[in-house]
Amino acid sequence: MANTIFTKILAGEIPCFRVYEDDHVLAFLDINPLSRGHTLVIPKEPAETLDQLSDESAAAVGRVLPKISRAILQATGAVAFNVLQNNGATAHQAVVHVHFHIIPKYPDGSGLGIGWPSQSLTGEEGKKLADSIAQRV
Ligand code: AMP
Repeated sequence: MANTIFTKILAGEIPCFRVYEDDHVLAFLDINPLSRGHTLVIPKEPAETLDQLSDESAAAVGRVLPKISRAILQATGAVAFNVLQNNGATAHQAVVHVHFHIIPKYPDGSGLGIGWPSQSLTGEEGKKLADSIAQRV
């Protein structure tokens, strides 16, 4: 596991604008926010990507995402938001420690901009692919 900027934040070696902490999770403001209230929620477990995270840490993060989202909405007045979670450099992950972005979206357009280059899925391919994934879950 790489030593990342988030490892240093967890160790208290560099500061952050903390909004929440428990035994398994830390949440703090993103230093280069896409919008006001942009917050990062990270497990304390040093996993690089979501697929490597333990069930215990995943549950701990999942448990707090809604309440941190609610707090951000109340504090900012935003009524819409995106939750973003990047894994791997080609998927835009810059810090290799699992993190969830909570990004308020405002009427002025600030927040997450999304490209959504959708493709189509045929019945035959859908069945094969779903079965293949299901066998591995
Ligand atoms: P990602 O592209 O998903 O890896 O996003 C990493 C995020 O971490 C970016 O939005 C950065 O602005 C944010 N970030 C990097 N360093 C810090 C820091 N010291 N404190 C808070 N956020 C940070």
